[in-house]
Amino acid sequence: MSESNNPVIDLRSDTVTRPTAAMRQAMFEAEVGDDVYGEDPTVNRLEAMVAELLGKEAAVFVSSGTMGNLVSVLSHCGRGDEMILGDSSHIFLNEQGGAAALGGIHPRPLPNRPDGSLDLEQVEASIRADNEHYPVSRLICLENTHNRCGGRVLSVEYMDAAGELAHRHGLALHVDGARLWNAAVALNVAPARLVQAADSVSVCLSKGLAAPVGSVVAGSADFIRKARRNRKVLGGGLRQAGVLAAAGIVAITEMVERLADDHANARALAEGLARLDGVAIQPETVETNLVFFDITHPELDAAQVSLALKQRHILINPVGPRRMRAVTNYHVSRADIDTVVGAFAEILAAGAQASQGKVYVYG
Ligand SMILES: *Cc1c(COP(=O)(O)O)cnc(C)c1O
Repeated sequence: MSESNNPVIDLRSDTVTRPTAAMRQAMFEAEVGDDVYGEDPTVNRLEAMVAELLGKEAAVFVSSGTMGNLVSVLSHCGRGDEMILGDSSHIFLNEQGGAAALGGIHPRPLPNRPDGSLDLEQVEASIRADNEHYPVSRLICLENTHNRCGGRVLSVEYMDAAGELAHRHGLALHVDGARLWNAAVALNVAPARLVQAADSVSVCLSKGLAAPVGSVVAGSADFIRKARRNRKVLGGGLRQAGVLAAAGIVAITEMVERLADDHANARALAEGLARLDGVAIQPETVETNLVFFDITHPELDAAQVSLALKQRHILINPVGPRRMRAVTNYHVSRADIDTVVGAFAEILAAGAQASQGKVYVYG
């Protein structure tokens, strides 16, 4: 069930999703207490539910995906320790280098392959020998689904192999699962199975699941004790956070299965765009709700197409001179997808005339 007939079709991100009526009701009715004392029953319930969904002993509610990753890496690594991660990962590119800035953690970026994976032989070769010249390798980070790599899904077999490799060398495995729910739905596998080999997982409630705020980190009871301390030092110890957790409970119980609709809409958008001259896209690589494509039109670049779409009340961000990213979400219906493909067809056919006025580049 999606909302349709939007005045604006907003495909900039799945973070633009607004809380559902059921979430607002649950927030209104939420029983609360002081969560820094561990006394908010709604936060406690959300944490227990997510821990169970992810097959881990414990979990902790945090303000954002960035905070979830940061408390996780701070809990695994000390100052001067090294974490191996993808060079297109959100932790490496989009979190201000917080692990280094606040934790003194040394990043060891390896090239992400187009499917979002790391070459595990390369990972193994990057683990440091015991030598006083080297930092100590502590952690491998994976991202599933992989944002920059097009919402690609890492398989159960790959996740298991990465965990086995990490543990064989005494390292931990952290999974940035901001869109883990999308990965699990795309694979038709339980989230717990997908992250069985991971020592910690951060999942977002506020992207495709439409909760207003929050992420959850899961791991062993001992790890979560450390994560709670790190959350506090980062200023993330919230008090009556049950009003937020209540929406999160609705998100994980009512909003996961419907992600399949977002995936079907993303594939329909990709297939529609693939039929147009002036767009380059491989629809078969669209596995979840992220649709990356290039404008190959001789007269139009991504910023101009974005502006022309905006004039038609369609929001899609340029992410490079020619590259654009569209993200299907709860507020975008199948009919909206047809409208969007129609708008692209018109804009590309009109060429330079489609983009009048000042070019506006979205942040
Ligand atoms: C959005 C995102 C995050 C961070 O989430 P915020 O809540 O915006 O801090 C982390 N990792 C990935 C892969 C993301 O897409």
